[in-house]
Amino acid sequence: MQKRNELYRGKAKTLYSTDNPELLILEFRNDTSSGNGIRIEQFDRKGIINNKLNSFFMMKLEEAFIPTQIEKLLSDNEVLVKKLKMFPVECILRNRIAGSLSKRLGMEEGVILNPPLFELFLKNDAKHDPMINESYCNTFNWVSTKDLEKIRELTYNINNILVNIFNSVDLILVDFKLEFGLFKGEVILGDEVSLDVMRLWDKTTMNKMDKDRFRQNLGGLIEAYEAVAYRLGVNIY
Ligand code: 5GP
Repeated sequence: MQKRNELYRGKAKTLYSTDNPELLILEFRNDTSSGNGIRIEQFDRKGIINNKLNSFFMMKLEEAFIPTQIEKLLSDNEVLVKKLKMFPVECILRNRIAGSLSKRLGMEEGVILNPPLFELFLKNDAKHDPMINESYCNTFNWVSTKDLEKIRELTYNINNILVNIFNSVDLILVDFKLEFGLFKGEVILGDEVSLDVMRLWDKTTMNKMDKDRFRQNLGGLIEAYEAVAYRLGVNIY
């Protein structure tokens, strides 16, 4: 597979075209950002860890019949993916109150949400990803009603799969963000499933094991990511 041109450079990943128009190479960089890219730092090995964990989670989801963009792990920090037509929305699933939900409603972090909450945000850095809903998706043609129903169903299924995986290694999946796209008309999971896009707390200590360690200046980001990989039995070396 020939890597061709850089198509898009995001805050932590870069997309390249390949000699196959249906496939792209996704590169995980060491860059770590918060506050919509206001603060960016590099962490040695983060690209490798996220690439390997993303492949691990996507493969687990594939095994459970969730369609994902992943084709093949190419190198330490690169993965071959399907070229999707991405929906301009971020889908958030919350099992517990934390982060922006806690701030928005003034509610205490950690409270269990039953049933889990499904939220939608517009992908728009300049507007700080405003919250939207199904009606917005419809009116502005961001996602069709049928595709949104599928996205919602997939997100809840993915939550069940991930909760079980983390529960088995004594971790609590607090919330996560997913992005979907279309491939030949089918709704497919795109972007990434890594510790950058989820909140994970240790079941016993309630320590944060995710990107909040960076956002909240807690230190030990890479150590936490490595500890999660170790518990899951994912080889990151
Ligand atoms: P919150 O809305 O509380 O800030 O985020 C909810 C969940 O989605 C968290 O797990 C957070 O990591 C993830 N998330 C939401 N938006 C983004 C984003 O723009 N980038 C990343 N990396 N994660 C996000």
